[in-house]
Amino acid sequence: MKQDVAELCAQLIRFDTTNFGEGNSRGERDAADFIWGLLHQAGYDPVLLGPDAQRSSVVVRVPGTDRSLPGLLVHAHLDVVPAEPEQWSFDPFAGIIKDGYVYGRGASDMKDMVAMTLATLLDWASAGTKPRRDIVVAFVADEEDKGDYGALWLVAEHPELFVGVEAAIGESGGAATILTGADGSPVHLYPVAVGERGTLHIRVRANGTSGHGSRPVETNAVKVLISALDRVGNYHWPLTLTPIVRDYMERTTAALGFAADLTDEEGVQAAIEAMGSAGAVAAVTVRSSSTPTVLRAGYKVNVIPGVAEADIDIRALPGMVEETLATIDGLLGAGISREFLSFQPPTSSSSDSHWFAAMTAALTRHDPAAVVVPYCMGGGTDAKAFAPLGISCYGFSPMGADPEGRSSAGVHGIDERVPVASLVAGQLILEDFLGAV
Ligand SMILES: [Zn+2]
Repeated sequence: MKQDVAELCAQLIRFDTTNFGEGNSRGERDAADFIWGLLHQAGYDPVLLGPDAQRSSVVVRVPGTDRSLPGLLVHAHLDVVPAEPEQWSFDPFAGIIKDGYVYGRGASDMKDMVAMTLATLLDWASAGTKPRRDIVVAFVADEEDKGDYGALWLVAEHPELFVGVEAAIGESGGAATILTGADGSPVHLYPVAVGERGTLHIRVRANGTSGHGSRPVETNAVKVLISALDRVGNYHWPLTLTPIVRDYMERTTAALGFAADLTDEEGVQAAIEAMGSAGAVAAVTVRSSSTPTVLRAGYKVNVIPGVAEADIDIRALPGMVEETLATIDGLLGAGISREFLSFQPPTSSSSDSHWFAAMTAALTRHDPAAVVVPYCMGGGTDAKAFAPLGISCYGFSPMGADPEGRSSAGVHGIDERVPVASLVAGQLILEDFLGAV
């Protein structure tokens, strides 16, 4: 009996697993218990673990028929970002299936993938199917914050769970994007993430002379900090086409039938525009970025504070960490110190690999018109936690195209939803890939 993946996704949404950040969350344990129970009942040997009783992850290893082959990890997070119900047109945690969609917080980030993976394991159990190689599945807590209670904790405390694993698939990638080519015909693009920009979150501090607000001082910490943030926040990062992004742009524009000239800013900008909705991810990965996000200084209007602080969200392209930090230090200038709040280097994996070929093959079996292209993510996922184990990480959570043109929406926003048809097709692609890889 085949699992109803849409119903499973709706059930998972009904566990409110909101991650508020800074160690505060709810519901991950309940969702983990539910998954553990289903897997255990199906005859698997899952483990439920975490740094405390509420921050739980579930890990299960499915032995392959050829255990000499390197293993594959599938990771998907259980937590979701907060939802403000008053802005939604339905209860974010009701898990409603209607009008061809599954609705709710997490529907497309990423209880869809949790449901597809779980459905595959349950299908395998009832059919007696075994994958070729060991498949390790990790349903993890705390991705929507820093991963300290989820992926990072698992990697630090239980690396033995991932022994023999050579590659991983996870969030973001493998979803159908239907574009219009230069000749007006549809192009079925499936971008698979083979890299991520690094996450460099820093706190900067200006020290100055404190005093009475009526008597200006030479070094006012607020003014020093504001000037530095102006330089960092308004810096125009130079165009840098890393091999992954160049490959993505060349292959995508070729599939669309456009000639792209990627030799200068103008040509790259024209190519990004020609790529339609596939251009958005290129736009954020052709350069590093630095965005001031938090400011902290002062406590009374007539007192000059001695210290002013800010947090800056820096994203560095693969291979560009040192250069990016050197630029930041130059922009911050004298009188500003910095420390890392979190430092997660960029990741990159080969698109010229057995793994990428197997993803391409599974997508093409499902959709013979599929054009599968590698891309670099602008943000980050739990892949950054697993990559240091020597695992090649890919963003592959496949989704088919909805024949009636529905699409996923509302990630981290309102009225989050995923088309049922995309989810059902996605599970078929995932099951095919996991069995054949
Ligand atoms: Zn996510």
